[in-house]
Amino acid sequence: ADGSAAALVKTTCPYCGVGCGVSGAVGQAPSSDGRALSVAGDAAHPANLGRLCSKGTALGATVGLQGRLLEPTVNGKAASWADATALVAKRFRDTIARHGPDSVAFYVSGQILTEDYYVANKLMKGFIGSGNIDTNSRLCMASAVAAHKQAFGADLVPGCYEDLDLADLVVFSGHNAAWTHPVLFRRMEAAKARGQKHVVIDPRRTDTAEGADLHLAIAPQSDVRLWNGLLAHLIRIDAVDRDYIAAHVNGFDAVEATLAELDQSPAAVAADCDVALDDLLSFYKLFADNPKTVSLFSMGANQSAQGTAKGLSILNVHLATGRIGKPGSCPFSITGQPNAMGGRETGGMANTLAGHMDFAPADRDRVARFWGAPDTARAPGLKAVDMFEAIHAGKIKAVWVMATNPAVSLPDAGRVREALDRCPFVVVSDCVETDTTAFADVKLPALAWGEKDGTVTNSERRISRQRALFPAPGQARADWRIVADVAKAMGFDGFGWSSQASVFREWARLTAYENTGDETGRVLNLAGLSTLTPETYDQLLPIQWPVRADGRGTPRLFTDGRFQTPDGRARMVPVRPKGPADAMDAAYPLSLNTGRIRDQWHTMTRTGLAPDLCRHAPEPFVEVHPADAEALGVQDGALARVITVRGEAVALAKVTERQRPGGLFMPMHWTDAFAPSGRSNHLIAPNLDPTSGQPEFKHTPARLRPY
Ligand code: SF4
Repeated sequence: ADGSAAALVKTTCPYCGVGCGVSGAVGQAPSSDGRALSVAGDAAHPANLGRLCSKGTALGATVGLQGRLLEPTVNGKAASWADATALVAKRFRDTIARHGPDSVAFYVSGQILTEDYYVANKLMKGFIGSGNIDTNSRLCMASAVAAHKQAFGADLVPGCYEDLDLADLVVFSGHNAAWTHPVLFRRMEAAKARGQKHVVIDPRRTDTAEGADLHLAIAPQSDVRLWNGLLAHLIRIDAVDRDYIAAHVNGFDAVEATLAELDQSPAAVAADCDVALDDLLSFYKLFADNPKTVSLFSMGANQSAQGTAKGLSILNVHLATGRIGKPGSCPFSITGQPNAMGGRETGGMANTLAGHMDFAPADRDRVARFWGAPDTARAPGLKAVDMFEAIHAGKIKAVWVMATNPAVSLPDAGRVREALDRCPFVVVSDCVETDTTAFADVKLPALAWGEKDGTVTNSERRISRQRALFPAPGQARADWRIVADVAKAMGFDGFGWSSQASVFREWARLTAYENTGDETGRVLNLAGLSTLTPETYDQLLPIQWPVRADGRGTPRLFTDGRFQTPDGRARMVPVRPKGPADAMDAAYPLSLNTGRIRDQWHTMTRTGLAPDLCRHAPEPFVEVHPADAEALGVQDGALARVITVRGEAVALAKVTERQRPGGLFMPMHWTDAFAPSGRSNHLIAPNLDPTSGQPEFKHTPARLRPY
């Protein structure tokens, strides 16, 4: 890719975890910033086979330089890279010297590339010696990670997209795939035309539910009750796979005993989940009759104070029926972000080290040896919400936010703003100005999509190259290089890479380091990529890990029934249904749920630039059921106030039977730049899943009033 006119560059879409391949052609520029880009789906990329959704199609409209950070600034004044880097290094070094390594933190993002993640993690965990690096992926799929680790022994996604073609039944659990993963949804629609059945479990009648064979509009937070009820039913009718359990699964008896604590009759389960008994029985029958089942789960399951339990209740059913590791059969956590998976692999989460290694002494020592970093952290750091709480409390005194906008996206975002405001030293590296850069002492300009170059991993463990189409604008630099330069200025060795290819090679070598590569080794093994040259790295074709030494990838895991636990057996884990963390009351009688819409991404910093994408939902809205709207005097199309104990938002009321009575839905995208009164996540309670630390974005007690 030389960036010349009409050069065709193969890269990947920067938005969701489908990870679509994109062919981009840089053209002659009509705009003042000299950029024009036409894009098409890459027909050769296995994730999308040439398709793109509305967001991917509009990429060409988002590559302008409007709102970009193009030079380093210190306290609002332009600075050289040398001065800005030296200042960041000094302030972090001084803070650590006075208050210890846990007085500093990095908050990073599923938008950065694997190479960026690796370098940031190596600096914080390896050389600063603190676990305090966490990622906005904490808001997205941390509960699925926790469930995978408990059930499989590591954060391993068993299936692949081909399973979505091969399944006879797809269950969407808290997953509006039609909007959040549109290209995969098109693929499943094609399979549905061939006879595949779709069941949607979601309190809202989403576009995914609209066309499904069955929609279970369950009461919010009743997922565990539903999946446990399904498992009890399958046991009752002898539809579990006892041979598979005997050979490969522990914990079945404990789970069965837990199920016996509640009445699991279909009538009792239907009543607790608030669904029609006939619909529940239809679901049970579809599940029992179709061994080729994929159960997709996403934010609706994960963003909950019992998100890990929800994931485990789904994994339990698949393990008990042996529906895993087989074509067309698996539980499948779909990630939200383009590189959430790459962050999970490289240790971007506070509770893991790189390469799926934990803080157990043997793992920790292995990473420390590989890095030559004797001070490598010995304990997990603070997860996202707790990290900002520690900043608020003055325990963390220097924070570096990379490529994310927590001042809008975190729950209780008003408190996050207070935390950033009182933090003695805030660094933000990003490609654009955001609500969060307003709090930065130092702003560092990073490359945007279309300029940066490296790798990402999508939801099916497929590593793809993201390639540059344009030269770096202004003084913008790659995230990995910005971090490496600060590390060197702090006096650390081991950050002297010459290119992203050399970072990737080191990362791949780490996964293979002291890894036997056989059945006793770690599954996350990139041995076959650890000798890439700059040329072979540049030409790397999409490939699913683990990648064997002979270079072959791996579409499906657990095909031999062996898991990454010490005894090689999967673990079913008893889980009990619980209500949401905060109960409704007379003052706040409605349940507020925030989430994504079809044509916007995160806090709109890029998708908000594309007029076509803004037409789908031009202003913030709140969905409310007609019965609630009538009782409250709220008119369809009129402004309404959404109020929680944390604040208030104003949005256009959409009165719709798609919303369950008693529930409200607001998109999470709008920011100060687009519609400050329509921001929604500052209303959300920072209640967390106790295991995963993932916030409960899907439920906060609220009330609604006409404006
Ligand atoms: Fe991009 Fe996701 Fe759309 Fe594919 S489905 S084009 S990865 S936003």
